[in-house]
Amino acid sequence: MEIIESIENMQRRADELRSAGHTISLVPTMGFLHEGHLELMRVAKKHSDKLVMSLFVNPTQFGPTEDYGQYPRDTEGDLEKALGVGVDMVFMPSVEEMYPEGSQTKVHVERVTQHLCGISRPTHFDGVTTVVAKLFNIVKPHLAVFGQKDFQQLTVISRMVMDLNMDIKILGVPTVREPDGLAMSSRNNYLSDDERKSALCLKKSLDLANKMFQEGERGAGIIRDAIESLIRDHPFTDIDYVSICDSTSLEDIGIMRDESLVALAVRVGKIRLIDNRVLRKN
Ligand code: AMP
Repeated sequence: MEIIESIENMQRRADELRSAGHTISLVPTMGFLHEGHLELMRVAKKHSDKLVMSLFVNPTQFGPTEDYGQYPRDTEGDLEKALGVGVDMVFMPSVEEMYPEGSQTKVHVERVTQHLCGISRPTHFDGVTTVVAKLFNIVKPHLAVFGQKDFQQLTVISRMVMDLNMDIKILGVPTVREPDGLAMSSRNNYLSDDERKSALCLKKSLDLANKMFQEGERGAGIIRDAIESLIRDHPFTDIDYVSICDSTSLEDIGIMRDESLVALAVRVGKIRLIDNRVLRKN
């Protein structure tokens, strides 16, 4: 497994691979890898013959009061896991390499960034699209793989790729969960035992929404109220948003469609967790 820290070297290796006829896939990560990340790598490997993982905790996608400084890191463990799933190259630049003094360009996607997480994290998606666009120009992948756990992120990146005519296929991978249903996240480790129990309310509320929908409920407000009251019954929780929305535009809806997205962000103790589920008629 090659470890590459400089943009110049990564671009040169990407050119060499492309000239030799290889297809390159990219899985961007912020590290502290878990099974969810590894599943993305396995999917990427199936669709390409050279797999690049990027490992970069991107400061520009954290707000001024968010946990950039405390974001968990374990480079050694991450490299071991990457090797275990057959990653060919790890691109792990420094912050200075990615954002040298004088950088002043951002990629901004308009409407789909305005809903859900965009409301309480107004600068987050500009940070995401800018770093992902840079990674695409550095790694030059044919394919990039993202998790559906970050549904809005996947929507925003797909929109960017379409709007900027980037010649890259985007694949979304279903959310990988702990045996009890909690969506895997690098931040789960920070939950205390009692908070960890309460955190199950996210998955429980998505299941409740699905049950109500399958039993014929079509009022989005009624389903949202039921979710909010289920979450409030769990200690340590503080709802950031519960949204029932169009799964493409991410705009809130009043009446359930044949396909609708339920998306949640809930603070459990100090940790902000997100989860989502697309509801479709069975
Ligand atoms: P992160 O390191 O949190 O930036 O995540 C890197 C990639 O892994 C993103 O595309 C995430 O959507 C994806 N991811 C994170 N958690 C999960 C999960 N539980 N299941 C599937 N994909 C995930």
